[in-house]
Formats: sequence, C-alpha cells, structure tokens
Amino acid sequence: MRTNCKASLFVAIFLCLTASVAFAQHSAKGKAAEDATTALLQMHSSYQQASATQKQQLLTQFTAMAAQREQLLLSLMQSNPGDVLRVAIPNNVSHTMPPTVKQHVEQSVTAQGVLEVLYEMQGTPDKTTGAVMHHFLNSSNGRLGLHFAASAPTHLLTGSVVKIHGVQVNSELALASGANNNTNTSLQTVTAASAPATSGAVNTLVMMVNFQDNPSAQPWTAAAVQNMVFTQTSNWDMENSFQHTWLTGDVAGWFTVPVASTNCDTASIKSDALAAAQSAGYNVSSYSHYIYLMSSNTGCSAWWGLATIGGGDVWVNGQYNIAVHVFAHEMGHNFGLYHAHTVDCGMQVMCSSGTLSEYGDGFDTMGASSYSSPHYDAFHKEQLGWLNGGGGQPPITTVTSSGIYQLSPTEVQDSNPKALKILQSGTTNTYYYVELRQAQGFDSFLSNYSDVVSGVVFHSASPSNANSSDLLDITPSSPASFSHPALVAGQSYTDANTGITITPVSVSSSGATVQVTLGSGTCTLANPTMTVSPAQSQWVLAGAPVNFAVSVRDNDSPACAQSTFNLTDSLPSGWSGVWNATALTLNPGTTGQATLTVTSPTGTADGFYNVGIAATNASSPSYGNSVTATYVISTPVPASVAVSTNQPSYTGGQTVAISVSVTSGGNPVSGAAVNVTVVKPNGSSSNLSGTTSTNGVASMSYRLNRKATKGMYQAAANANSASASTTFMVQ
Ligand SMILES: [Zn+2]
Repeated sequence: MRTNCKASLFVAIFLCLTASVAFAQHSAKGKAAEDATTALLQMHSSYQQASATQKQQLLTQFTAMAAQREQLLLSLMQSNPGDVLRVAIPNNVSHTMPPTVKQHVEQSVTAQGVLEVLYEMQGTPDKTTGAVMHHFLNSSNGRLGLHFAASAPTHLLTGSVVKIHGVQVNSELALASGANNNTNTSLQTVTAASAPATSGAVNTLVMMVNFQDNPSAQPWTAAAVQNMVFTQTSNWDMENSFQHTWLTGDVAGWFTVPVASTNCDTASIKSDALAAAQSAGYNVSSYSHYIYLMSSNTGCSAWWGLATIGGGDVWVNGQYNIAVHVFAHEMGHNFGLYHAHTVDCGMQVMCSSGTLSEYGDGFDTMGASSYSSPHYDAFHKEQLGWLNGGGGQPPITTVTSSGIYQLSPTEVQDSNPKALKILQSGTTNTYYYVELRQAQGFDSFLSNYSDVVSGVVFHSASPSNANSSDLLDITPSSPASFSHPALVAGQSYTDANTGITITPVSVSSSGATVQVTLGSGTCTLANPTMTVSPAQSQWVLAGAPVNFAVSVRDNDSPACAQSTFNLTDSLPSGWSGVWNATALTLNPGTTGQATLTVTSPTGTADGFYNVGIAATNASSPSYGNSVTATYVISTPVPASVAVSTNQPSYTGGQTVAISVSVTSGGNPVSGAAVNVTVVKPNGSSSNLSGTTSTNGVASMSYRLNRKATKGMYQAAANANSASASTTFMVQ
C-alpha cells in the first residue's frame, strides 16, 4: 500500500515496473540454471555409462548437483519463471534418472484446481515498496504457487476452476502465460467464479486475532473496530456507491491463534481464526467476507493489507494501525478491483512503453491514497456497477458524437451523469474516463488540490482488462506530475491519434460543462507487438529442423495506411533459418503470422541456443521489435542395442518376453528409455516402452491373442538413437 509522508500526498520513492518492450535477455541466474542443467545432464550421461561400483560413487554427487539446481530453479521461479521453462528437463529424460536424483528434478505437469488470487500491499504508512500479486492453485497436488512468464491473468477471480500446464519444482509451478485467449495452453478456464456481490448489505465477519507468543496484545477494543469497519468504512462504501452498498456484520475476538507473531502464515491464521470464531458461537458460513485483523505480525511486516481478488478474505496487519483506507482498499480487491496506476510517458499523455507506478494514482483508494480515503475512479465504479449499474445508479455518458456534455461531481449523491467515456482505441478497447471531483465528503482532502477541483480528471482504462486503470497527467510535464493531473476550465486537450478534442468549458462545485469534438486523427506509427511459439523447442538432436511460429501485431494508429514488416533472424554461426514469408503487410490493429524453420549443423554441442527474431517496419526502420526463442540440443548417451526374445516360436495365448540390452563402451547403460515396435505378418504394429535397469536391460512383455495371426513377427528396438531388431514365429 503506497502511503504519504506527513506534508505531501505523494512521496518520491516508487518501485517501478517498466512496461517497455526490450530484447529478451536471460538473467545471470538464468545462465547459471542453464549451466547447472547442462552439467546435470553430463553427469546423467556419465552415470548411465558407469560400472556398478562407479555408479555407487557417483550417485551422491549426482544427487547433490540435482538438489543444488533445484534451489536455483526455486529462486528463479520468483524472478524469471520463463528461465525455468527454458531449462526444464523433459519428463522422458528425468524419468530415466535414479529415484534419489529424480526427486529433485522438475516435472512437467497438468493439473486442475481452484484458483486463488492474492494482492499483497507491500509498504506501510511510512514507507512504500510495491505490490505483489500471488496466484495459487488449490489442487489434489496441494497448494501450488503459480508463476507466469508472461501476462498474469486479470480475467479470473478467486474461486475460478482452472486447468493449468507448466513445470513444477516442489510446490511452485512456472507457466508460460496467463493470457485470456483461445490459444493459451498453460491456463484454461473450466468454470469462472461468479462476480462478487457489490450491492446491498455486504455481510462481513471481523476476527481480531493475536498470537501465541503475545496473547495479551489487544490494541483495539471491539467497539473501536466496530466503528471503523461498520460505521466509517460502511459510510465510505455508501457514499462511493451512491447509497447502494454498505457493510453489516460482527466483530469477534480477540482470538489467540497457535501461530507466532513472527510467522506470516496467512493460511493458518485464516483457518485458526475461523475455527475460533465458530467455537465462540459465530456461524461463520453465514458471512460472505472475512477480515483477519491481526494485533501485529512482524513476519508480515512487508505489508499492511492482503486480500483475495474476488473471494472474501482480507488480512490486516495491525502493526500499522487500522484506517478506513486499508479496509476500503482491501475490500475493493474482494470486489474484484486491481490497483489504480499511473504510467509516466514523459512529455506524452499516453504511450505504449512508459514507466508504470503500481499505486501511482493518489486520487483513488486503490492507489497511493495513504491516510486519506478518496473515491474510487469512474472506471472502478463502473466495474462494481456503482455507476452505469442499471439499478438507479448514476450513469456514465458514452460519447459517440461531438457536442456539449454535463458532469455532476463524483461525490454528490444524485442520479446525474458522473463521467464521460470516450473511445481512445478500438483495437485495445481503451476509453478516456473524464470525471469531475470536488472537495466534498470523503474527497474533502481535494481542497489542497486546486487544479483538480477547478478542472476535470482523466483516466484511461479498458473494460476488457480489470487491471488497466491509469490516471493521466493530461498537461504533461517532464518528469510527470501526477499530483496535478487535471485539465482546468478553458484548457483543451487533443488526442492526435484520434483527433478528439476535449475542453472543460466551465467547472464549479455543482457541475462541469465539457465540449467534446470528435475528429479523424492522424497517423502515428508504433512498434509492433511480437510473440514466438514455442518459446523453447523440444529437446532435439543436432541437425533437427525446428519450426517457430512468429506473430506480429501492427500497433500503428487507425489513420495509418498498411505497414510492411520485414522479418529477420539472428542465429549462431553456420545455422540455417528459412522463413515461409520474409515480410508481413498488415493493417493497423491486425496481426499476421509467419514460420521460421531453424536447423543446427550436425555435430553441434548439446546446449541452449538463442534464436533471435526481429520485425522491422520496411519504410520506417526505427519502428520494430524483437523476441528470442530457445533451440535445445540434447544428445543421448552413444550406445549399442541388442534385442532378443525368450523363445524362437510361440502359439496363440502365450506371452513373448522381450529383452533389450543397451551398452556403451562395453558397460551397461542404466536408465535408458527403450521403445520396441512389434510388427505382425499383416503389417499392423504395437508399441512397447520401458527403461533399462542397472544391468542395462529393459524387459517387456508382448501378449499374443489366442487367435493371433500366424507367421513371422518382427521386434525392432530403439534406445539412445541406436536400434536393433529380431524376429519370432507364431504357429
Ligand atoms: Zn492493494
């Protein structure tokens, strides 16, 4: 939670997430993981070819290497989940490792379960750091932490049932993408959770919780908490929702939970508090929202509040006191809201690659609003149905033609239009939200912001993306000043891309008159968006061709003509890259695809190789973009294979015992994956598979049908790129 210093609403320290697109670079840890993977596979190869005595000696070292690499992957999960995917050892390879090693090696998994989305407000009333969003899957495999290499999902609420595919290390799981589209194979929605109720009485149980090492800590009385939540915060909801939503419920506790005050185990704190409340006579299932109000938890000192997006759980760390702001903010997350951002675009109002401040919007309680508790912005109120809700709530006026429009102040409890919604980009479904804010009610702090109360405030947001609310500095300066964002009466703002001009003609405490002139816009070129699939190839032998599907999206403004993007690749020396199309000609807002086939020279060493792919605007080469994929070469242990059956001939109903022996330099190869194809006299075939044991032999059974076709059968075995075959008769 971003908060203020004493004098100013805005503090200068931001934890910034850069939205700019750059060349995909692998982190230093990513490189270390690559090296650790290569080393582990070399050890695997040595182990497979070792004698029985040598195997015993090597196993300790092999296991230690795997355990060390596991810790590296776990730390990468948090910072660079894409690097975990990049170096993930395929299941068919890890399957051939000894069990003590395999337990430390990641698994590629598919799982279904219930999604939990948590927002942790990092920071305290005196110090701001940032926000961390956590995703968990509660499945039959336990509670798995989800880490998205790209696009954490913003379209799903807590409680949704999803099917995921990713790479699991311990209880952490890396996924390629959380994007909401039909081609996403790493996160699929089975059942979306229904939207939380945001009208009428919101029935809430507040549980005051202290900890076993300090059971006498009771910093607030039940009456004080009752007043803070069910009077002050409820009044805040009433004013924000135009009298449509309020809080009801009970304050329970204090309860002492069997958790130390230094242990930020929020799942146990939740379950222990609920159990204590139930024992104390509260029917906990009769509430829809639960607030775990902790006396003070120094283990959770990174945050003041924690909440599920959707769902109904809120944790408040009493180390930092209690305030309307913290309850209104966290319950906003329960209602489905994300944070209120700013994006610093220098001298531009909007841009595709500015510097994002997660809580940059100090005029929305979902942003950096600290001790004051401002209204939610119009976009957030629209999401909750508090504006445009159809139940007597005030409307938002969607502007589709030039004209003069009226705005009523956000804070005034009437049914007049509270915002103008003007389409800024049809391709991203982004709108300007223009509203009038006055120093009244919970917004009375605005008396310190003279430009805001004498003008109109702009946000951009997309109804397609819940996490898209950006406060705009509509008269930009460099650096941007988001504490003076408004367009004051008499000034005009023109969007060059769309040609829209917006002028607040008059502004007072009772309303604003705004002139909107729609135009035709001018062409503004932009860098295209690029993706590549797969981001990392299967593990292949040197010399194998691998196809990479590349997509390019033209982000030029709608007034632009078609652009042609030249496609180029950057490969290791001597490699071949063949495109099925070397250029894509696209209309603004559309996406095109091409395929690059990459082939490494035979004899290339095992490893992870970068495939650089770029798209450049042919007529304006300063506009372009690039992505990097990975081509993985992995050679199995060089081996020779022998295959035999236990008899030369059989009759129907008998079982054929097939042995496949794999050796390398005379030593048995253990843990080699073996495939056997049995071909009948009529040409039809069956496949068997197995793994060699420490003696280098894989044993398989082929059961003959009672009426098995008579004649000569062939059994062809394949392991580590070597093959052999034998025949047997059925009489
Ligand atoms: Zn938050």
